[in-house]
Amino acid sequence: MNQPEKFNFNDRPAAGIEKLARRILNINIANGWDVTNAFDWPEGQRPKEEAANKLAAKLALIHSEVSEALEALRAGNRGNYAEELADVVIRVLDHAEGLNIDLGTEIELKLERNASRGYRHGGKAL
Ligand SMILES: [Mg+2]
Repeated sequence: MNQPEKFNFNDRPAAGIEKLARRILNINIANGWDVTNAFDWPEGQRPKEEAANKLAAKLALIHSEVSEALEALRAGNRGNYAEELADVVIRVLDHAEGLNIDLGTEIELKLERNASRGYRHGGKAL
């Protein structure tokens, strides 16, 4: 991703997310989970079919946590809703860290882009 001109690497509030992501990955490795790793999708290459299937399963699990949050919302259970939102973030950070994706930097870059997109990104309803 190209870096927008306004981006300032000296002001990176999302940088702390990297330590959290590493901690999550280490916990999941210690617990025996088949975490993603850099070999699943090397930079500059397409993932091989088996690795792509593994990554797809990881995305499905992220989605399952979103669905669990929706069910908590439907049940009116705010405590469970908060827990499921945490699950979403944990799964996303685990996935990105395993692939050596610097999610803190990606978030900073995306926030910078979003901030420049204007009110409701040009008039979108949602
Ligand atoms: Mg859950």
